[in-house]
Amino acid sequence: MSEGYYEHSNGNGTTNGTYGEGRSNAASPNGDSLHNSRAISPSGYPVKTEPGLNGNANAGSVQAQQPARKKLASWVGFSNLPNQVHRRSVRRGFQFVAMVVGESGLGKSTLINTLFETKLYQPKNVPAPGEDREIEENGVRLKLTVVDTPGFGDFVNNDESWKPIVDNIEARFDAYLEQENRVNRLKLVDNRVHACIYFIQPTGHSLKPIDIEFMRRLHTKVNLIPVIAKADTMTDDEIVLFKQRILSDIAHHGIRIFQPPQYENEDEETIQENEEIISKVPFAVVGSDTLVNSPDGRQVRGRAYPWGVIEVDNEDHCDFVKLRQMLVRTHMEELREHTNDVLYENYRTDKLKAMGVSQDETVFKETNPAAKQAEERALHEAKLAKMEAEMKMVFQQKVQEKEAKLKQSEEELYLRHREMKDALEKQRQELEDKKRRIESGRPLTPEKGSQKKRFGLGK
Ligand code: GDP
Repeated sequence: MSEGYYEHSNGNGTTNGTYGEGRSNAASPNGDSLHNSRAISPSGYPVKTEPGLNGNANAGSVQAQQPARKKLASWVGFSNLPNQVHRRSVRRGFQFVAMVVGESGLGKSTLINTLFETKLYQPKNVPAPGEDREIEENGVRLKLTVVDTPGFGDFVNNDESWKPIVDNIEARFDAYLEQENRVNRLKLVDNRVHACIYFIQPTGHSLKPIDIEFMRRLHTKVNLIPVIAKADTMTDDEIVLFKQRILSDIAHHGIRIFQPPQYENEDEETIQENEEIISKVPFAVVGSDTLVNSPDGRQVRGRAYPWGVIEVDNEDHCDFVKLRQMLVRTHMEELREHTNDVLYENYRTDKLKAMGVSQDETVFKETNPAAKQAEERALHEAKLAKMEAEMKMVFQQKVQEKEAKLKQSEEELYLRHREMKDALEKQRQELEDKKRRIESGRPLTPEKGSQKKRFGLGK
């Protein structure tokens, strides 16, 4: 390993040393170790030793008067979770699958060997594409698989060059899906492609149709990382221009390449590091796994030319360091996560849907107690309002019926009143008549009818 490589891994603050310390001392975040502040319970869990429980009689009596209270601020231990995850990860090791795509001779094998500082690739006469290699750094094991795509773009007709690559990526997704569907999923082997380094020929023009077609077909299935191969064949200005053209082509065709995510709560150093990486995309790389002598006498990985030496690990000479930084040091886990959570998830959903597997979304309806209570209240209120409306209607109907009845009896009474009034008027006229006759001395001739009527009225 080169000096630079060690330097970077220590600079990250996540080296074995840092975590190793946490493990051996089981230190709390505030610096006191478990042995200082806690005893170990029979169950093996650390317990806080309370005064009075350790055989001190006086302390015990005080304890009896004042019930022991647990302080909320005491150290529970979940802040140690990252260390647990770290330990588990180190135990299990990591799996990472990188795919390299590009025409032959663009320096794919050289770059992979340069990246992982190990002769992953055998000489060309012993091809070992897809073979796993386990590499180790500071006790962390990484099972690295490099998937080569020999022959890509090497044919006269390259119309469907992307197809075997898509098939390969999908076959790996299928294999993972098949493992997930097994009864025992304990030993899941993740052979999905986590990053695809796409080598762009250093033409200095713009992307070729084959590049665009490839990226268009692949961007939803894999994390695309475009690199300008053999950047030492171009001048700095040419590289800047070429990068701009490539990025505008990528944007124009709606291609999504892997973008290192930015998180809000990150420290300034990380944000700056991220921004630097992003600013270098597509990385202009130079590969070399041989050591050469620099003009100032150092031994460096690079390429020696009659006019000078190009150093692979010198950020002023190429973007190799930034590519390695993103791929290995800072974003390997992001690449794995994005592959699992987004790319594979989308593939899996489409695949299952195509197989006719559907999911009743209502089954997974989340219940929010507050929302549920509000819903129930609204239902109850609606029910009350309905009952009230019904009661109002019945009441109005009853009132109408009563009014109709009253009106009818009023009319009947009025009729009767008129009849009585008419009869009285008639009787009055008869009496007037009688009176006049008596006064005029004419004899009274009693009328049977009127007599009867009188009796009738007297009733
Ligand atoms: P592959 O077929 O894409 O795997 O390419 P190789 O890694 O086998 O490289 C092909 C040739 O290009 C070899 O002679 C390498 O030494 C050379 N080469 C590799 N990387 C670079 C580079 O960054 N710059 C230059 N100028 N040549 C390179």
